[in-house]
Amino acid sequence: MATAALDKDAILARYRAERDKRLRPDGNDQYVEVKGRYAHYLEDPYMPVVPREPLTDHVTFAMVGGGFAGLCVGARLVQAGITDVRIIDKAGDFGGNWYWNRYPGAQCDTASIIYLPLLEETGHMPTEKYAHAPEILEQSRRIGRTFGLYDKALFHTRVEDIVWDEARSVWVITTDRGDRFTADYVGTGTGPLHVPKLPGIPGIETFKGHSFHTSRWDYEYTGGDTNGAPLSKLKDKRVAIIGTGATAVQCVPHLARAGGTVYVVQRTPSSVDVRANAPIDPEWFKSIATPGWQKRWLDNFARNVAIGPPPEEDLVQDGWTDIMGRVRKRVLTLPMDQMTPANILAVNEDADMEKMSEIRARAEAIVHDKNTAEKLKAWYRQFCKRPCFHDAYLQAFNEPGTHLIDTDGKGVERIDETGFWVNGTHYDVDCIIYASGFEVGTSHQRRAGFDMAGVGGKRLSEAWKDGIESLHGLHVRGFPNAFIVQMAQAANFLVNVPHNWTDAGDTIAAVIKHARETGKRLIEPTQEAQASWVALIRTALPGALAQAAECTPGYYNLEGTSPDISHSFPSGYPLGSVAYFEYIDKWRRSGDFAGLAFS
Ligand code: NDP
Repeated sequence: MATAALDKDAILARYRAERDKRLRPDGNDQYVEVKGRYAHYLEDPYMPVVPREPLTDHVTFAMVGGGFAGLCVGARLVQAGITDVRIIDKAGDFGGNWYWNRYPGAQCDTASIIYLPLLEETGHMPTEKYAHAPEILEQSRRIGRTFGLYDKALFHTRVEDIVWDEARSVWVITTDRGDRFTADYVGTGTGPLHVPKLPGIPGIETFKGHSFHTSRWDYEYTGGDTNGAPLSKLKDKRVAIIGTGATAVQCVPHLARAGGTVYVVQRTPSSVDVRANAPIDPEWFKSIATPGWQKRWLDNFARNVAIGPPPEEDLVQDGWTDIMGRVRKRVLTLPMDQMTPANILAVNEDADMEKMSEIRARAEAIVHDKNTAEKLKAWYRQFCKRPCFHDAYLQAFNEPGTHLIDTDGKGVERIDETGFWVNGTHYDVDCIIYASGFEVGTSHQRRAGFDMAGVGGKRLSEAWKDGIESLHGLHVRGFPNAFIVQMAQAANFLVNVPHNWTDAGDTIAAVIKHARETGKRLIEPTQEAQASWVALIRTALPGALAQAAECTPGYYNLEGTSPDISHSFPSGYPLGSVAYFEYIDKWRRSGDFAGLAFS
């Protein structure tokens, strides 16, 4: 659809109206923290907790988090000859989000070939363009096995504190299993999406039926399994799923197919574009898997979706590269003397409107009931919320037992003993499934469950009280030999998150290797280097903030209202992800690690 045919003013007015309808003064506080009376929502339904003796030993590197971040760091350390690595995780195995999220239909939404880390190193060929959760979990385990990371790993173990012991120059790690061990170096890879949250719906605690969060799917209750077997026990049940984000988009088709009654309770619709998943042909894979292939694909994908000059080819060719390809094409139509930031923003807006109009038209084309189709249309810019891709979600609303309960941006009115209320109507249900997402905008400490104490006992929350302060998002002044693996103040490459982790792994391994080779024990950023890095990162903030502020509320913009958004907004390198990856690669290769002091 050409933008000339679109009434841009009307669309923008609709975006604003839909946004305003959803703004609420309590922002992030609207959600219920999963603890106390709600703590059972966190229980591990997948693996029993095995008793063990507490540990009081010493390791070279302790890594909190056994998801992709911890695994990538662990693997790179082992490759660099640092094999005494202990990964600690509250889950019963490696996998992080993919350990917890086993809901039916779970799959990656970035192509497996670049999303699954260390494919070349582990010799695995993904089976599908977008792999399903069991294969992703298995790749996590494969990384663990390939690099010997199981030997020292601690599972079902929650880190409670990490304290720098200045006298001995070691980190002291204590856990909920009574461990108290030390490490020369510590890393944290606790990720942004591992603490489930519940919607703050009045009466939520009164429901007498069954309920669970999508990240603890109860197959005992629903029947079926994580491999996609039918949810056979739901045939005669009435189920409500609350939330319509990326998770619900993937599991609703499975609920719909179960043949019972399904109420999909929507506050804001997701944008749902074509998925076009397909098996990977082993012959084709053989032809591309020449030495260094995954790095080439990672770089190519990053170049295709980040700002910067267009690459020669688009290897991955999917919804993400399509979005950016359109923007690029339009930018290139601008005469050189008109390539101003304002004009680039304007063509970006046109490409976005065109895309979102197509996505809205898709809902209309697929969903038979016109009223339901209208309600499923997303009225915001595509990157205000996580873009979704699925070939069975919209179709699910054509199933006779599946009903969209649209709350017109207001959310569920209330829950009572037997069900829920929307727009004054009561719906009786046997089960409520909360697809209500994860804590993202809350403090790092609340999400991680610990608050590291560095030199002089200063807590990280204190060091970061005015916002994240780091060198490259990884090193923090006052926290020697610590590596905080996260995306902010670095590449912040949201479209393919594991790319950030392999890169961080490269840096950590290179830095520690350098320290060892030069006989140094302590690694810490200088005050000047950290201050100038933070200043550089903050130059990117105004643009990012202005865009986020115009968006419909969600976790991308801290629910649209947080007054301290400028402190916590996860901004990245001002020149974009690709420029960051190039910069840091050069920094590593230079061998002098400017900005870090080794002593
Ligand atoms: P989200 O935070 O994206 O969605 C939560 C949903 O709950 C939203 O639809 C929200 O509505 C709704 N909600 C919250 N409160 C209420 C209420 N009171 N009444 C009704 N509805 C309510 O969580 P997800 O688990 O879906 O996704 C989280 C992230 O996980 C994704 O953004 C993505 O990054 C990642 N993910 C990735 C996948 C992949 O394919 N790789 C798959 C699944 C998730 P509203 O929008 O109005 O706030």
